[in-house]
Amino acid sequence: NTPVIAIDGPTASGKGSVAARVASALGWHYLDSGAIYRVLALAGLQRGIALDDEASLAALAPKLEVRFDGEAIYIDGVEASLDVRRETTGNAASKIAVLPGVRTALMARLRAFRQAPGLVGDGRDMGSVVFPDAPLKIFLTASAEARAERRYKQLIEKGLAANLDSLVQELRERDARDASRPVAPLKPCEDAILLDTTPLTIDEAVAFVLQQAQT
Ligand code: C5P
Repeated sequence: NTPVIAIDGPTASGKGSVAARVASALGWHYLDSGAIYRVLALAGLQRGIALDDEASLAALAPKLEVRFDGEAIYIDGVEASLDVRRETTGNAASKIAVLPGVRTALMARLRAFRQAPGLVGDGRDMGSVVFPDAPLKIFLTASAEARAERRYKQLIEKGLAANLDSLVQELRERDARDASRPVAPLKPCEDAILLDTTPLTIDEAVAFVLQQAQT
């Protein structure tokens, strides 16, 4: 049974950076599950599908060819990294993520990332729904202000537009939507270890997870 480390948490909690570094330290595969939701939202918008059209989005999900190459993301062979990373795409992803049919349609795709020697997956429901048997589950938190500031820096570094005040606002709205949906709501599962990253650097959070992985 291939081991999985599930790292869940709200938007900009640091889970992406932490999960990617833990994966590379262990030599394991890495799954950015949010990117899969983002890709489907983006591809849907490009085809004129409404963000609440559950049947069309669920039908589109298995048809897309998604390939990761380091930080780059290709949809049907076309690089879409920048569009996938946009805050508008993240917000669109959180809208389609409330649809049960969409979540079911993406499940097989997400589980296929579990390959030897191991997988580090980050998202909202890696520990609770996608890999419930993961031997290590971490739930990262951080204050909304700290997360907005991190997201602001990320976006500016990528040359994307960003406004700190609207980021705090959008982040709160997205958290509320992710936490209140009936399917796979964002919350730590019972066997998850909670880590508040507000006062931590990425390196410190990575060290914590690696230490948990060894015990
Ligand atoms: O993690 P990221 O911000 O890229 O995810 C975008 C959106 O996709 C989230 O706000 C959430 O609604 C949804 N998502 C999800 N389950 C996951 C990963 C992401 O519902 N495992």
